[in-house]
Amino acid sequence: MKTLIVEDETRVVSFLKKGLKNANYEVFVAEDADSAEKLVAENEFGFILLDWMLPGRSGLEICQSWRQQGIEVPIIVLTARDTTKDIVTALDSGADDYIVKPFSFSELLARMRALQRRFSDKSIHKELKIEDLTLNVQRREAKRGDTIIYLSTREFSLLEYLMQNTGNVISKAKISEHVWGFTFETRTNLIEVYINHLRKKLDCGSKTPLIHTIKGAGYVMKNFNL
Ligand code: CA
Repeated sequence: MKTLIVEDETRVVSFLKKGLKNANYEVFVAEDADSAEKLVAENEFGFILLDWMLPGRSGLEICQSWRQQGIEVPIIVLTARDTTKDIVTALDSGADDYIVKPFSFSELLARMRALQRRFSDKSIHKELKIEDLTLNVQRREAKRGDTIIYLSTREFSLLEYLMQNTGNVISKAKISEHVWGFTFETRTNLIEVYINHLRKKLDCGSKTPLIHTIKGAGYVMKNFNL
């Protein structure tokens, strides 16, 4: 999972970087607000670990501005401040959790796992949306504009998986693993068949294709032509 560390203290950065890499997180580092904002605009992060005291704009200021922009990444604020008032201020700025320095790395990982669970529970109830296509996961309903699209269980799972990864290229191997629960032989064209069915159903009456084939790499859902 892509994780962004926003921290100006080299010692803390290297401690976090090492631990997170060992725990299989893909780590990015920003030392100030501007570079953090740039990275967030360019990447889809699963986590942000945000230091409060940064040179220039503070961590809480960036946090607030991300939330105002509708960026929903789980954010944990790192700080040496530990009064109740500080904690309240941090959480009110839109942070999801708060950890006081110095902290143990295992505690941080546990908090990250807990947050991840909370977020994935939340996404179950969420409506996925791209262009005029909406997928209500709870009601198992797909719509393009006002038209309901009838999908088989497998088609629905495939569409849900693609929409959860909007903008990212998903390989056939990943699709078979997530949607069918196992990896099948690369010779089979089952996925192509399913993708074609989905395309036909989704594109009925619409001129904007949403599922794109990336030759040799897989498929991507995007709201514009590649
Ligand atoms: Ca700092």
